[in-house]
Amino acid sequence: MKIAILSAMQEELDPILKNVDVLEKIDYADNTFYIAKFLSHDLVLAYSKIGKVNAALTATIMIEKFRCEIMLFAGVAGSLKDLKIKDLIVAKDLVQHDLDISAFGHPFGYVPGSKTIINTSKELNLVAKDVARSLDLDIKFGTIATGDQFLNNEQRKDWIVRTFDADAVEMEGCAVGVVCDSLKIPFFVLRCISDNSGGKAEVDFDEFLNYVAAISAQFLLKMVEKL
Ligand code: SAH
Repeated sequence: MKIAILSAMQEELDPILKNVDVLEKIDYADNTFYIAKFLSHDLVLAYSKIGKVNAALTATIMIEKFRCEIMLFAGVAGSLKDLKIKDLIVAKDLVQHDLDISAFGHPFGYVPGSKTIINTSKELNLVAKDVARSLDLDIKFGTIATGDQFLNNEQRKDWIVRTFDADAVEMEGCAVGVVCDSLKIPFFVLRCISDNSGGKAEVDFDEFLNYVAAISAQFLLKMVEKL
């Protein structure tokens, strides 16, 4: 089975890349795709660059050009409720908090012909649960809100919680989810909390990015071991 491993930023992908055997690097569509082996698995790895458009483009290429059959996303996120810096969250489902045609009376996150809530793969989430149990780790399974905005604002944070009841916020997950859902590719999102999304979140983000990206990378590789 060919597995796609996707992150948004180099800092998130590097700790994964370091632990796999990279066989080839392919430059395509203004990005680099790493063809690799890990145990018996064939992998294609990339970091998409930040944001929904880049994430959707990269996910589509991994599936359509490189023929990946499952998609694993690993990275960092801001907390919206009770999660703390260094905690892990697996997305049960994801929404786009910045998708807004409410002017026409529609709910936030909705556009006609498209799903508002994207579910991740139950099977992959069960593997994550197993890995967490074997490592004696407490991980949250919850809702992730995605949007093209680094959230460092208490008011907007409260609004996202009230509107979507989400547990964490980031800038790529749901975009990858829309692609995988449309192309029928099992899809998984893991994020380690880097900040609390409130005022000055960028200070914590800068301080904790490398540390928490490594936690997410380690967990993801443990998961790949079990696939
Ligand atoms: N420091 C970077 C920008 C990081 S943007 C630079 O200067 O280039 C934040 C990245 O981490 C995104 O990929 C997003 O998915 C995730 N993220 C972490 N905390 C976030 C938050 N509070 N709001 C939105 N995205 C967040």
